[in-house]
Amino acid sequence: MIHDLAITNGLAILENGGKHIDIAVDNGVITQLGRQFNARKVIDATGLIVSPGMVDAHVHLTGIGGGLRDNFEGYQTGTSAGAKGGVTTLIEMPMNQLPATINGRTLLQKYNAGQNNLKVDVASLGGIVPGNLNGEIQEMNCQGVCGYFIATCGHRCMKADFTNSDDHTLLEAMKQVKKTGKVLTIHAENEAITQMLAERSEASGQLSMADFVASRPVFAEVEEIRRVLSMAKETGCRISITHVSSIEGVDEITKAKADGIDVTCEVCVHYLYFSKEEADRIGPLLKCAPPIREKRQQTGLWQRLRDGKIDYVASDHSTCPPRLKAVKNVFQAWGALPDSKITLISCLMRPFRNGK
Ligand SMILES: [Zn+2]
Repeated sequence: MIHDLAITNGLAILENGGKHIDIAVDNGVITQLGRQFNARKVIDATGLIVSPGMVDAHVHLTGIGGGLRDNFEGYQTGTSAGAKGGVTTLIEMPMNQLPATINGRTLLQKYNAGQNNLKVDVASLGGIVPGNLNGEIQEMNCQGVCGYFIATCGHRCMKADFTNSDDHTLLEAMKQVKKTGKVLTIHAENEAITQMLAERSEASGQLSMADFVASRPVFAEVEEIRRVLSMAKETGCRISITHVSSIEGVDEITKAKADGIDVTCEVCVHYLYFSKEEADRIGPLLKCAPPIREKRQQTGLWQRLRDGKIDYVASDHSTCPPRLKAVKNVFQAWGALPDSKITLISCLMRPFRNGK
């Protein structure tokens, strides 16, 4: 038989691990694994990894900059970075671009900006903020969002960007999203606690990465996760907790799953790859929220990923001009990392780096 395509000599990522094996493809579908296929086209993947296309479920692109972020990464660069890293589909968050994606009009603006500029498939989450519970969720549903996003806390470095929600907005959003059958993705950290600690830290001149981490303690994450889970139980809304950074947070979600709550959770590659000790040394480049935590957390997250308690790994890819990271006060630094290109390879390589 002559196949359409053979990918030869690569290290193929299969269900049970990596194997040097050739792959035959016909009509766009893998039809055989083996050796020495006859094919009309051959791709020699010597020295390369051949993996399934990754779905990166957490990406911030700035395809529209609103005059303020026009020189940020746009769709061309952002989706190219994903493709370079083995991502074939990415899910775009509704914040970082200006305006934020919170209704049908802003969603269409984003679709238009992406026209002819995408290197991979892109799906969009609709943003929910206080004040857009009057038909906007349904409007965005009709226009094809794949799910929704809401944040319980804000970013001090991104003022007036995407408003975090109060408990009432969160509860009402869950009731409305449930009717769409889609998933509500939630950034869960306690706003009052994190803001108060950050204000105190800044006011007293404690401006390092360690101070930033201290302003977003595990307790503030776990407390909010518990509250969000209780609302999901009350409403029956399907939820996903994004970028869980602590083992205590994952364990709360594991308990909730056993209790019948329809919840999944995500970890991001930077929590798996770095520890707080490294972040202290590297500085604001590694600032993100929730923050990168201690070594024991990093080890525990890997363990829970292997155990299947963490449902998926994503990048939380978000870029900014270098000047927004080159600040002395870490609280004012841009709070995210450009990870999409390296998520897959980091996950594959870190265990080797650790000798596992
Ligand atoms: Zn994010």
